[in-house]
Formats: sequence, C-alpha cells, structure tokens
Amino acid sequence: MTQTAITTRTAPNLAKSVYIKTYGCQMNVYDSSRMAELLAPLGFAVTQSAKDADLVILNTCHIREKAAEKVYSELGKIRRLKGEKAQRGGRMIVAVAGCVAQAEGVEMMRRAPCVDLVFGPQSYHRLPELITRVLRANGADVLDTSFPAEPKFDFLPDPTGPRGVAAFLTVQEGCNKFCSFCVVPYTRGAEYSRPVMQVVAEARRFVRGGAREITLLGQNVNAYHGEGPDGREWRLGELIRRLADLPGLDRIRYTTSHPRNVDDELIAVHRDVPQLMPFLHLPVQSGSDRILAAMNRRHTVADYRRIVERLRSARSDLALSTDLIVGHPGESDMDHRATLDLVEGVRFAQAFSFKYSARPGTPAASAPCQVPEDVKSQRLGELQLLLARQQRDFNAACIGRTLPVLLEKPGRHEGQLAGRSPYLQSVHVAAAAERIGEIVRALITAASANSLSASVAQVVTA
Ligand code: SAM
Ligand code: SF4
Repeated sequence: MTQTAITTRTAPNLAKSVYIKTYGCQMNVYDSSRMAELLAPLGFAVTQSAKDADLVILNTCHIREKAAEKVYSELGKIRRLKGEKAQRGGRMIVAVAGCVAQAEGVEMMRRAPCVDLVFGPQSYHRLPELITRVLRANGADVLDTSFPAEPKFDFLPDPTGPRGVAAFLTVQEGCNKFCSFCVVPYTRGAEYSRPVMQVVAEARRFVRGGAREITLLGQNVNAYHGEGPDGREWRLGELIRRLADLPGLDRIRYTTSHPRNVDDELIAVHRDVPQLMPFLHLPVQSGSDRILAAMNRRHTVADYRRIVERLRSARSDLALSTDLIVGHPGESDMDHRATLDLVEGVRFAQAFSFKYSARPGTPAASAPCQVPEDVKSQRLGELQLLLARQQRDFNAACIGRTLPVLLEKPGRHEGQLAGRSPYLQSVHVAAAAERIGEIVRALITAASANSLSASVAQVVTA
C-alpha cells in the first residue's frame, strides 16, 4: 500500500493551506484530489508539508491492521505540530477521512483527541459544510460517517486540477460481495455506478487537461452498471468502447476487477479495443476451492483458470496481475500448496500478496482455526519467492523488444524519465523533461525485478 502526499496545485497568495496525506489504494488518491478541489473555493491551497498547515487531512486505509495503525502513528506527529502552531497563536484543524474514519469514527476521536473532524468516504462532498461546522463548534468534535442517500458524485464540482498524463477516474464504488476477510462493504458501502455520460464528461476534461491514459477505478470495477444515455444499464465493456471514441485518449485501463464479473463483452473488448492496455489485475486470493468457499469468493479455481484462458485467447499478449492472501482462517498446508500450483500454472507478470489480517466485524475475524503468525510468514515467503521469479522472468523476456512507453514523470536520476509500458511495467528512459506526455517507442535494454531500462527510439504519438 502506498502513502502519497497530494501534489496538485499550490497557490501561495491564498490565505489558508491544506495538507492531504493519502494512504492505501488509488481510489483514495482520486478522492484526495476531489477534496482539494472542494476546498479551493474556500481559499485553501494545497501545501506539501503538514507543518504550519491550517488544515491537515489524513485520507486513510483500513484494509489491513498495519494500514490502520500507521494512521495513529502519524496522528502522534500531527498532534505535536498542532500544539506548536497553537503556541504561535495559530490554529490547525485535523481531519481524518477514508476507511479508518468510517470504521472507527467515535473510537478514533477518543484515541486521538487532536482530531477535530472525522468523515467517511461517502460524505466528503460535504467537506465545506463540515469545516464550517468545526469552526463554529468551539472545540467540539464533528463526525460524519453516514452513507447519504444522495450520491456524492452529483455534488462534487467538476474536476479542475491537473491529473498528469496518466489519470485515475472512479466509475464505481462500494461492494456487495462480502468476502469473509474484507472491510470494504462496511467502510465503502453498497455498490454504486456513476452514469455513463458523467464518466465520459470527466474523462474528456482529463484529456483536455493533458491526460493520455485513464485508469477506471472501482472496488469492483467490472461490476459497473451505470445508467447509459439510452436509459439502459451499461456494463464496463460498453463504457470502455464509448471512452475509446474520445480523441486524444490513447490508453485505457481498469482496476480492480472481480472474477465473477468478467463477462463476454469485457473479454471481447480486450480483443477489439486497441486503446485498452493488455494488462489486467484480476485478484484470485487463493488457489484452493475450500478456502475460496470459506472466503465467500463465489468462484472456483477452475472458473479462474477458464477466465484467464478466455482472456488470453482474446488478447494473446495479455499480462496478468493478482492479489493473494495467505493464512486465511482454516488454510492448511495442502490449501497453500494449491495456491502455489495455481500461481505456477497461470504465470503472473506481477502480484500483490498479503498475510491474512483479521479485521474487526468481518466474519473471518471470529472464525475458528486462525493460522499462527509464523506459519503465515513462512507461507508468504514461499509465495513471494515464486511471484518474484515470475515477475523477473516476465520483465527479462521484454529485453530486446521495442515497446510503446508513455513518459509520465521525471525519473530518479538527472536526465531520466519514468514511464509505463502497455503491461504497466515501470520503464526508465534517458530523455529530456519536455518529452513528458509523449508515447515513445522504447528499446528495452535491461530488466530488474521491478522495472525496465530502455533507450528511446522514436515518438509514436506526440
Ligand atoms: N475488490 C478486490 C477483489 O475483489 O479482489 C480487492 C479490493 S481490496 C481493497 C485489495 C486487496 O487487499 C484484496 O484483493 C485482498 O487481497 C487484500 N485484503 C483485503 N482484506 C484483507 C485482509 N483482511 N487481510 C489481508 N489482505 C486483505
Ligand atoms: Fe472486498 Fe473485493 Fe471481496 Fe468486495 S469483492 S468484499 S472489495 S475483496
């Protein structure tokens, strides 16, 4: 999981500053950008440091225990900064947003008294009103962890800030699947899909602002069923076809998808739409049917293998990524072996693997047969060795190929840019900063576990 300090615009001549720190998934990154846009009319400019900020927002993740604990440790630092600012006669409002806020609301205010405002992922469109309430509250805490009947997207201003050449766009939120281990249905609420034309308008705005790639986001993005311009419900495949008609949108991706919602149309879109990149993150979680059933995943190992086969027949160079959990309650050595077998068979280009982390209120947390920590560690080590080998092999197989790379940002070294291959690999290229935003043909010259190096051949499209 990443931690990102938001880097949108700064406006030093405005009176107030907001520091937003983002934890967790790309949906939180998207939400943080929208929060910054909501606050701009109130005179808040984004700052890159919490020190001296008038408003600090921690946009949090609750998916595993470690992610949630990081927030409390950050709040310890913020408390000191708030105290220092008060001594200088200033005021810092401290707000906690996102999934920890949703899950722990009142408890969080008790545990971290420096927090003035707690609000959940479904109520941040009310941020201006909530800030006003904090200012009027005279020291009392303000809490909004409701799931409002109105969809927040209808109340957000049009996105204005720059999103970079590769932008994220939330099209679907929430989840009705209730996997045994997962907090998302409780923190993000029920499934909701944004109407097609709202998504298209936002994508068009991003492209006008310089985006050449858009990743469609959703907790279950391929459960998308937004209202189409014809009054019907459109599925994700149809939405992708519509977006592919937008001039200037060269690359489309989507994440995170669920095996249950991979339908025929989505598979056909991988075959038919060249803008859809040949990379798919398709979490499987386990290679054992017994554990998949205990997880309430509603698919079997055979289903997953069949979907992968069909996708690869539709797009032969499709690279796959996945999420895997080791040590779900009840997982035996045999179940773990089955996971390793599945991974061996599918061959992933990359993957995220986690030790099961008990989340309060989820069914798995109170299940008998919890797996001991040392067993989880040992299984994770074994799985990660295998996944790392597959990723290295996949990257090494790219050496000598010429791939189209979208140059996104300055690289780690002077004179270097970082971009992405169609398969979402990070590619480092020697090129001048003015070339950010170009899609270049890059000759892959070297590969490491996590990235590729390339020399630029020529521009594909400027
Ligand atoms: N919706 C996606 C799906 O169905 O697979 C996953 C979304 S979740 C935000 C991202 C990943 O976190 C999951 O795929 C899972 O592997 C991992 N995860 C979720 N809950 C977890 C838990 N309690 N312990 C360990 N990993 C967990
Ligand atoms: Fe969580 Fe994904 Fe399962 Fe929904 S489908 S409960 S988001 S793991």
